[in-house]
Amino acid sequence: MAKDLLGDIPPANPPPGRSYHCPQCHRPMRRILGKMGPFWGCTGFPECKATLFDKDGKPSRTADERFRCPVCTRPMVRAENSRGVYWYCTGFDKGCKTRLSDDNGMPAKAYRCTACGQLLRRRRGKNGYFWGCSQYPECLHTWPDKNGEPLFRQEHRGE
Ligand SMILES: [Zn+2]
Ligand SMILES: [Zn+2]
Ligand SMILES: [Zn+2]
Repeated sequence: MAKDLLGDIPPANPPPGRSYHCPQCHRPMRRILGKMGPFWGCTGFPECKATLFDKDGKPSRTADERFRCPVCTRPMVRAENSRGVYWYCTGFDKGCKTRLSDDNGMPAKAYRCTACGQLLRRRRGKNGYFWGCSQYPECLHTWPDKNGEPLFRQEHRGE
């Protein structure tokens, strides 16, 4: 191996194009495809545990502030997995499980349960679509679907 030819190129997998340095130890950062979507981790891991958000494929100290979680108001982060683009809440490590699908580069419109404040999910029942609380079975609220939106006025509990 002509190792010497590599000179001082960082050894660990730098992103193509420009490289980004760890704000804590100045080693290169690398983009990691985590199960919650891409983020940036320090190549000095586990010595250095610095991580940064991924914002348009670049590391960022702050998550994209434009879009807020409809449940806990923390910023949402755009991420991508094998099923496509989606958004997740930066409060996921604090217990917020909000995940929204992507609608033209924005988090898809979300509706909240009027009882518990969690997100609603559109489901398909035997009589067509309806909206149920994502906390089912702890929360049993459901609403009829009208043109893809929950019809809040006609709440009925369970079936
Ligand atoms: Zn570092
Ligand atoms: Zn949240
Ligand atoms: Zn609920």
